[in-house]
Amino acid sequence: MTSIHETTMSTELDPANPFAAPSGLPYELPDYSVIREEHYEPAIIAGMAAHRAEVEAIATDPEPATVENTLEALERAGQLLGRAATAFYNQLPSDSTPGLEDIQERLAPLFAAHQDAILMDARLHERVKSLADAAAAGALTLEPDTAYLLEKLMTRFKRAGIALPGADQEKLRDLNARITSLQAGFGRKLLAGANEASVLVTDEAELAGLSPDAKAGAKAAAAARGQEGWLLEMQLFTHQNVLASLQDAGLRARVQEASMARGATGGENDTREVLLELARLRAERAQLLGYEHHAAYIAADATAGTTAAVSKMLARLAPAAVANAKREASELAKVSGASSGGEGGPGTVAAADWSYLNEAVRKERFNLDDAALRPYLELERLVHHGVFKAAGLLFGLSFAERTDLQGYHPDVRIFEVFDAPEPGEPNTGLGLFLADWYTRESKRGGAWMDSLVTQNHLLGQKPVVVNNLNIVKPPAGEPTLLVWDEVTTLFHEFGHALHGLLSDVRYPSQSGTSVPRDFVEYPSQVNEMWSWEPEILKSFAVHHVTGEPMPSEWVDTMLASRIWGEGFATTEYLAAALLDQAWHQLAPSEVPASVEDVLPFEAAALAAAGVDFESVPPRYRTTYFNHIFGGGYSAGYYSYIWSEVLDADTVEWYAENGGLTRENGEAFRRKLLARGGSQDPLASFEDLRGRPADIAPLLKRRGLA
Ligand SMILES: [Zn+2]
Repeated sequence: MTSIHETTMSTELDPANPFAAPSGLPYELPDYSVIREEHYEPAIIAGMAAHRAEVEAIATDPEPATVENTLEALERAGQLLGRAATAFYNQLPSDSTPGLEDIQERLAPLFAAHQDAILMDARLHERVKSLADAAAAGALTLEPDTAYLLEKLMTRFKRAGIALPGADQEKLRDLNARITSLQAGFGRKLLAGANEASVLVTDEAELAGLSPDAKAGAKAAAAARGQEGWLLEMQLFTHQNVLASLQDAGLRARVQEASMARGATGGENDTREVLLELARLRAERAQLLGYEHHAAYIAADATAGTTAAVSKMLARLAPAAVANAKREASELAKVSGASSGGEGGPGTVAAADWSYLNEAVRKERFNLDDAALRPYLELERLVHHGVFKAAGLLFGLSFAERTDLQGYHPDVRIFEVFDAPEPGEPNTGLGLFLADWYTRESKRGGAWMDSLVTQNHLLGQKPVVVNNLNIVKPPAGEPTLLVWDEVTTLFHEFGHALHGLLSDVRYPSQSGTSVPRDFVEYPSQVNEMWSWEPEILKSFAVHHVTGEPMPSEWVDTMLASRIWGEGFATTEYLAAALLDQAWHQLAPSEVPASVEDVLPFEAAALAAAGVDFESVPPRYRTTYFNHIFGGGYSAGYYSYIWSEVLDADTVEWYAENGGLTRENGEAFRRKLLARGGSQDPLASFEDLRGRPADIAPLLKRRGLA
């Protein structure tokens, strides 16, 4: 096992370090005009030391434990560390440098050890336990949010191994440190591997079909790396967007192959050794803590509760999804007159050709094509007349850009968010929304939300949230035109942002998106519904040059086309979710020993689950599945569809209650978004819906009923 990184860093922080004191900027926005790479590590190291000292004072307090001197004191502690670490972990995926990556690898084991030191402190545990015992005995009455905080804290102690014998505690500590460090290593190899996998095109003729914008972007990408020609860069998914438009089947096959080979190419960016060790160590840790495997350990702390509940839901969806995808494949083959895909025989479609053919079918059947839609989907208009407008109509929010404030990268835009004013009162500032929409080489793939400051009444802090996307930046002076998927993603990520912005809780640790991961995607998925709302769609889908609204028959056709493609989408997603479960439902001894076994294990797992449909590969293959090996979603990728059950049921709730109204928005805000993690999230859902979730609306939505 690894030892903790030896550091000579001082635990004293230079007062000139921008993290040394709370930022004086509005909403405590980190002061990026002065923050430099070299400020992060000393601030985090000093922050850890300060936090440890605060916790030591709580643990050794001669007074008997109270809510104030123990639970609240713990919530107040660690502010220097929080400031520096949130800023660091926000910047790392979004605008990385080799220096930041190095810092991350050095810090990873320190963070694991830091968390262990607090949750393995027997004196602290004793104080918290005395409160739990008093509450259980009826000698202490707690507010509901405090009771929930206490319950979750006791669970965290248990899962940290406080009840284990000393030698096992030591072992657990080593496992945690090694796992965190391996996860960081996986992410680093993946980013380097994705850059390496980019496909360089030197013959312009091969690019036929690609939009002028995408072509210009590819040209710029090549130039940025000092290469001649056009560079097709990899997105994180197996599926690459350029495949929908490239007419050259040979180039499509090259892109698909490069995409699917990531992480398994040999050499220093091969991820297989790292992921095997991760799977094995996670399984060892789960068993040490008394769980059958890592997936069981994860499910126990989620709203799912058990692996059986997860597997049951996935198994209920898989056969219908694959049958749907096969129907779609035969339609694609028929309409295009194509029959590719090698041994698949007639009616089959090669994975590399799927989206190109799909685009042809969409054009023919629904008369829709991305190139024709794009001029109607302009980013600036979408943001103000779509995403922000929906939030205004639902929650009474308004937005004003703050060009006087500076983000962590020149592309970051900052908006101040205002709550609906009370009659006769001025607008109240609610928080800040940072928008970082464009892709760049220093940014990881995908789209996500992060928080720089979390709302809480205890410290009187208001939220500062960030959205990251990977939209290709147009040449200077040109508008940013989108495809429909990007529209949906923008609404989705903003749904997470709203969860953070509309949080209304007392404790920092219960703020906004601090909910189990099989719940956190739910509010963001619900927010996607407004992209389809006629009133909103009409308002943002306007031609960026002529000002003409998108033809209404196109809108009708788009609505009609929604179920088309669900077979593909559900199958590629379920395949990834099932792979995640397969890797994490293993005992340590069952994890394959050799890197040569990784892809065969993957193939066998997909076959066993009935999702081994060659035309539709998993959304992520094992070797570039960053969600599960690079970070937080291990054994939790099922969460998206678990959350979607709640989402589809909530869309029905809106429909039953009159749709896009302030009254409905207010109910969703107060009963759900505002509650954050201050109570059992499923209780929040049931409070809103008036009953537990029903799976039927999801099956109907995805055409699986
Ligand atoms: Zn999300």
